[in-house]
Amino acid sequence: MAHHLLNMHHRPLGKTGLQISALGFGAMRLPMQRRGGAEHVRVREAVRLMRHAYASGINYVDTAYGYCAGESEAVVGKAVRGLRDQLIVSTKLPVWQVKKRADFMRLLEEQLRRLALAHVDIYYLHGIGAASLHNTILKHHLLDEAEKARRKGLIRFLSFSFHDKPEAMKEIIDTGAFASVLCQYNLLDRANEAMMAYAKAQGLGVIVMGPVGGGRLGHPGAVIRDLLPKQAVSSPELALRFVLSNPNVDCALSGMSAVAQVDENVCVAAQRAPLSAREQNHIRRVMDKLQHMARLYCTGCGYCLPCPHEVRIPECFEAMNLYRVYGLLAAAQARYTTIGNWPKGRRADACTQCGSCEAKCPQHIQIRAQLAEVRRALGGENQ
Ligand code: SF4
Ligand code: SF4
Repeated sequence: MAHHLLNMHHRPLGKTGLQISALGFGAMRLPMQRRGGAEHVRVREAVRLMRHAYASGINYVDTAYGYCAGESEAVVGKAVRGLRDQLIVSTKLPVWQVKKRADFMRLLEEQLRRLALAHVDIYYLHGIGAASLHNTILKHHLLDEAEKARRKGLIRFLSFSFHDKPEAMKEIIDTGAFASVLCQYNLLDRANEAMMAYAKAQGLGVIVMGPVGGGRLGHPGAVIRDLLPKQAVSSPELALRFVLSNPNVDCALSGMSAVAQVDENVCVAAQRAPLSAREQNHIRRVMDKLQHMARLYCTGCGYCLPCPHEVRIPECFEAMNLYRVYGLLAAAQARYTTIGNWPKGRRADACTQCGSCEAKCPQHIQIRAQLAEVRRALGGENQ
């Protein structure tokens, strides 16, 4: 792996002074096994995998309170032992568990105990948006608590991971409290692009997750593969090259679960110019066209909601578009099965054909017929 070590590209993470590898290790999909009726991390294998990643030049590992059934932090702690000074380690505050001001320090201390570390380099407020900014973070003075934690040396930099409409990011950046942002960005979902540029201009570091669409592109999809027809690249490789060719991206986090996946990603991240300007423009044009096609089916506006039977109509159509527009059947099926976990709701099979949604759709989509098609294509006939 020595050749990767020489080649791995490092970038400054905003104004933090940290030099971060272009590829980060997301410890959310560690190898698991079923034991005693529950899922547990295969600890030895996971530690070996992360050590392999570090030896390949990856110097950033990210975990969170809840990853891998709550076991990820402890395993990451084991995997960084002896290498602490060479690595950037981050974890995330489960903001939804904060009910009062003191919960911040209680949770952070618990996380440091799990990690068996004296401090983390980056501490994220996990998955925040406009609502949690006001209803939890500002209400319970968590930014002051974070500053206290920073002074005590428990965290070096406060950051946030983001799950909301892009326009909500500006207010969070403008608090001036954050050193970096972690947000969703990939070939299929470029919604945060302008806000990432804003974050960068304000001196924040920008780390993106889901560079291969949370695994969505991790399946052969003819449309994606054919974006660079003259080169034999896999869809995940192309997806990662696309993300890393955005100059506002300091690091792409990838949730890796196998050595081969680490090796493949490291090879891509070691390239200084993952895509030429011409290739980028070509890809953008094709993806814009595909996105336009996807919107003809459903814009995701949500006016059809609520459905009396809690069907998550726009998410059903979004999953279907992965198949219909991008040709990613396995990815569409995988996406479909997660519908309803969050936000709560139900899949297309719960539709009773009552029809009350159709009058509310500005696109005049025949929602009932379309949902039946979604169920047939993604959910199996008998669901
Ligand atoms: S037709 Fe189906 S999706 Fe539409 S409101 Fe009725 S149950 Fe919900
Ligand atoms: S109202 Fe129509 S376009 Fe909007 S989310 Fe519902 S189905 Fe899609």
